Amino acid sequence: MRYISTRGGMPPKSFSEILLSGLAPDGGLAIPEVYPKIGADELKTWRGLSYQSLAFEILSRFADDIPAEDLRAIIDRTYTREIFGSDEITPLKTLEPGFHILALSNGPTLAFKDIAMQLLGNLFEYTLGKSGEALNILGATSGDTGSSAEYAMRGKQGIRVFMLSPYGKMSRFQTAQMFSLQDENIFNIAIRGVFDDCQDIVKAVSHDHVFKQKHRIGTVNSINWARVVAQIVYYFKGYFAATQSNDEQVSFAVPSGNFGNICAGHVARMMGLPIKQLILATNENDVLDEFFRTGVYRPRSTSETKHTSSPSMDISRASNFERFIFDLTDRDASKVVELWSAVDKGQAFDLSVTPLFNRVREFGFVSGSSSHAGRVETIREIFQKYQVLVDTHTADGLKVGQALREQDVPLICMETAQPAKFSESIQEAIGQEPPRPAGYENLEELPQRFVVKDVDVAAIKVYISEQIGG
Ligand SMILES: *Cc1c(COP(=O)(O)O)cnc(C)c1O
Repeated sequence: MRYISTRGGMPPKSFSEILLSGLAPDGGLAIPEVYPKIGADELKTWRGLSYQSLAFEILSRFADDIPAEDLRAIIDRTYTREIFGSDEITPLKTLEPGFHILALSNGPTLAFKDIAMQLLGNLFEYTLGKSGEALNILGATSGDTGSSAEYAMRGKQGIRVFMLSPYGKMSRFQTAQMFSLQDENIFNIAIRGVFDDCQDIVKAVSHDHVFKQKHRIGTVNSINWARVVAQIVYYFKGYFAATQSNDEQVSFAVPSGNFGNICAGHVARMMGLPIKQLILATNENDVLDEFFRTGVYRPRSTSETKHTSSPSMDISRASNFERFIFDLTDRDASKVVELWSAVDKGQAFDLSVTPLFNRVREFGFVSGSSSHAGRVETIREIFQKYQVLVDTHTADGLKVGQALREQDVPLICMETAQPAKFSESIQEAIGQEPPRPAGYENLEELPQRFVVKDVDVAAIKVYISEQIGG
């Protein structure tokens, strides 16, 4: 399989060539030249497969330049009962016939990002091991992504992680999760500022190409194609778990922010998985919902981005969305260039007056948004009716999913985080604390390892070079 850019300016590359890179050289995103199509016979044989074997079938089609036995080994040490709590990896909980939750958040940081990030950690280590190179990952986090990256990269050969976070602004649980890691290759840098300051520092460092090359600085952000691919697997797994035969269709409801999770659902559908609806749910930061309802894509400024009780979906522009628009335009790179010349300047585009917008429905997409009151009510309802406790992000998906589903099509709602991470909203909804999963009881009491720094790009660069030793 070869990969091209959504903006048409990259010569075709292999999976391993795009694995460690961020944006394509032309500013676009890497995407397969053609999606693999899974025929009816093949889909039939996949139905009985374990998560690991299914992951191998799917990943080997996208990462076809990794020798099969190596890929198998990488998958087998990634998707284990020890790391994900069960052999099923993503177990399906049935609330009532035709209404399910797919549990994606049983990894080390209790959020669905672990599923892709744990694989990425092993893929990076494998690839760097072959080339003998090192990689220093620099990132900014307000919570989930940073800890997920740290837990995936801890102890990995040839990899260091420098993670910036706003000092004192994450929840105690999130802070403890990251700062309690004692691995020597993990560097927590608490910045005396807000999340945007952290992100600005990462951008400034990344724009210093000399520094970046000398110190082999890389990222693990959500546009990484391997992360999308890893997420395709559980759409297949969830489909097989919720149906008896491949003649049936299902719909998925997906709490969305950067469009990474639902992008994987889109690719699964393009590969031939019988998906009826892809129901996209946002919180009050509804840039994606607005597009799917009106055809207008209007990225928000940072000051327009609200802090909500489903914080991992507080985004102002959806970094993976360009991949979908590439497919929507029948892979017209010049159209994508035209549209994103506005987006990259912070401006909107409007497809409502073009035939393209009608095609959104052909791809199965519908959307809605939720508010704080809506998600608290949903948490309470689901708890009272089914004795199942969900977190605020999952609640956004459940709320919108239930409102937009077609009654005769089974609905699978993606559970993207554990309630234990968001105890305040859980308290508000049901008047009691969420239970802590085993092993996390004393998290906040563990010794913490971090440094505190000012918003000062030069000082951060000095700190990084000192740690790397050069
Ligand atoms: C990242 C995240 C999301 C949003 O996923 P995208 O792939 O960015 O759309 C939803 N819920 C939780 C808990 C997350 O961490």
